[in-house]
Amino acid sequence: MKRNNRREKNLIVKIFGTLGLLATLATTGVAYEFNGTWKAPLGANPDCPVVIHACTTSFPVGSEWFVALEQAVNKWNKNPSNFRFQLRSKKIVGGIEGRLFRPRPKPFLDVTGNLCRSRHANEIWFGAWVAGETGTAVTYLLSPGRQMVEADVVFYRDPKGEVGPKWTTQMKPYRNLVAYGGPYRSFRHVAMHELGHVLGLRHTGDQYSLMGQGFRHTGVNAGKARCYPGEDASHAAVELYGLDCRAKENLSVTHWKYSGKANDDGYAVSVQCKVYDECGHVLGSEDRDSSQEKLGRRFLVSRGQSVQVEFTRENTGKSAQEVRISYLLSEDDDINAWDREIAFVDGVCFERDSVDTQKTMIQLPHDLEVGKEYFLGVWVDSEGAVDEHNEKDNWTYLVIRVKE
Ligand SMILES: [Zn+2]
Repeated sequence: MKRNNRREKNLIVKIFGTLGLLATLATTGVAYEFNGTWKAPLGANPDCPVVIHACTTSFPVGSEWFVALEQAVNKWNKNPSNFRFQLRSKKIVGGIEGRLFRPRPKPFLDVTGNLCRSRHANEIWFGAWVAGETGTAVTYLLSPGRQMVEADVVFYRDPKGEVGPKWTTQMKPYRNLVAYGGPYRSFRHVAMHELGHVLGLRHTGDQYSLMGQGFRHTGVNAGKARCYPGEDASHAAVELYGLDCRAKENLSVTHWKYSGKANDDGYAVSVQCKVYDECGHVLGSEDRDSSQEKLGRRFLVSRGQSVQVEFTRENTGKSAQEVRISYLLSEDDDINAWDREIAFVDGVCFERDSVDTQKTMIQLPHDLEVGKEYFLGVWVDSEGAVDEHNEKDNWTYLVIRVKE
């Protein structure tokens, strides 16, 4: 993905180089950086959304692509700030090379060969994949003096579908996605990341964030991936546009975590969480792959062993919460309230500023079956104390196999 994002990174750098902008907020625990903000009332009032136009040739109304884009917008619109997007469909005939404050390397064509761009309107379209390029999507920003004026998003694909990113709108099965070793680039995850740029955000380099490796900023349960703005980007939106007093609460958990900053492009790199022994050493693991499909790794445990299990928890809602977190044991990858609870921790605090990745010590039961695979699940707010806008993102898991 580092290679795949290089074109986008180069462009963003070029914009900053040209305009001399470098905006970084360094308040407590905040990792995000921003390029600019929209001029009020845009972003200052949820009733004044930033309008983005989906090109009808790339995103026919009712198509899976339009629906996926619409759902990405809807997910962003549940962020706790005053910022909202509004998606409209726009038929654009012919090409207009706007007079812009930056060079544009070449005109971009959508899959039908139409130029799909106009001046001072925010547009989203699919551009033709160019052989030899490695970028999958790019957001062009016009933001003199830190004021956002225009943002255009281009996704690249080969009109013939032979080279370039293999896009999918499907989130199930999750293991088809690049993040899990599959062949498909998740359009929804990349759309969420690019919409973060449209909101005004730059890349995040120092915590788990949608604005890092967006394709690895994902939740998983019951075989399905989910994309979401996440705590870092949600908190950035609140800092930039203010808290919506009508915002709802939301907590979530994922088995991905921050692992460092990519050397060459500044993206936060994500890796999967792990299971450790009681001293904090990573447990041995093995491939789950069958002959047909890649299934990832599983950690090797013993019956009755005390282990530290690691997950990343986020608050993407209105305010800080203290809730119970339960740890569950399941025989399948659908973690739910009917699974066996083996431990819980009360009073776990979810602030809304920076992401928390933490290990929790639990003891595995003695009655596990040797040789068998289990799903070590986590359930945040297992007492249902918080009324959330999404209750389905409170579950995920790591995989273990009992060796003795
Ligand atoms: Zn980006």
